[in-house]
Amino acid sequence: MPSADSLRAAIRDVVDFPKPGIVFKDITPILADGALFHDAITLLCEAAGGRKIDKVVGIDARGFIFAAAVADRLGAGFVPVRKKGKLPWKTRQVAYSLEYGESVVELHDDAVSPGETVLLVDDLLATGGTAGAALELLDGLGANVVGVAFLIELAFLGGREKLGDHRIESILIFD
Ligand code: AMP
Repeated sequence: MPSADSLRAAIRDVVDFPKPGIVFKDITPILADGALFHDAITLLCEAAGGRKIDKVVGIDARGFIFAAAVADRLGAGFVPVRKKGKLPWKTRQVAYSLEYGESVVELHDDAVSPGETVLLVDDLLATGGTAGAALELLDGLGANVVGVAFLIELAFLGGREKLGDHRIESILIFD
């Protein structure tokens, strides 16, 4: 199994992006390196715990990059949770609060069938608002969410507590 240390070393901290006070975790150096990207996908796939996954669900937009590769590796389908107004078919939506204001995520009504096994994937867990809203959408469709996987968890923001009793796996935890 690959080590997470080289992934951690490749993450670039960008201070005051996109606004003052935020330290943005830039994952593009991992994406740009074939071996590191491969290792990241291998480690994210571990969150499936060997179970058969029907759908890997990725969150707009960096989550798509990882989730699509995980889906391919696991032989599963890929489903996007998107920001409001991007999905063309019948959707359901959940609003959640951001540090300032509110955001809305959407899922196609027929994206997951009741009882299908789902692995939810995103690049980063911060406050948990985004992943929590995605889980609410999936619960609404009767999905069987067997795991939630993040490349990065900012543990000091306590997002994990917002995700109920789901099985959460983060590859890199920042305290
Ligand atoms: P949250 O809803 O607070 O858990 O925020 C998670 C989403 O915001 C993820 O989809 C991340 O892509 C993005 N995000 C939040 N904070 C950061 C950060 N410090 N660096 C990079 N992305 C972030």
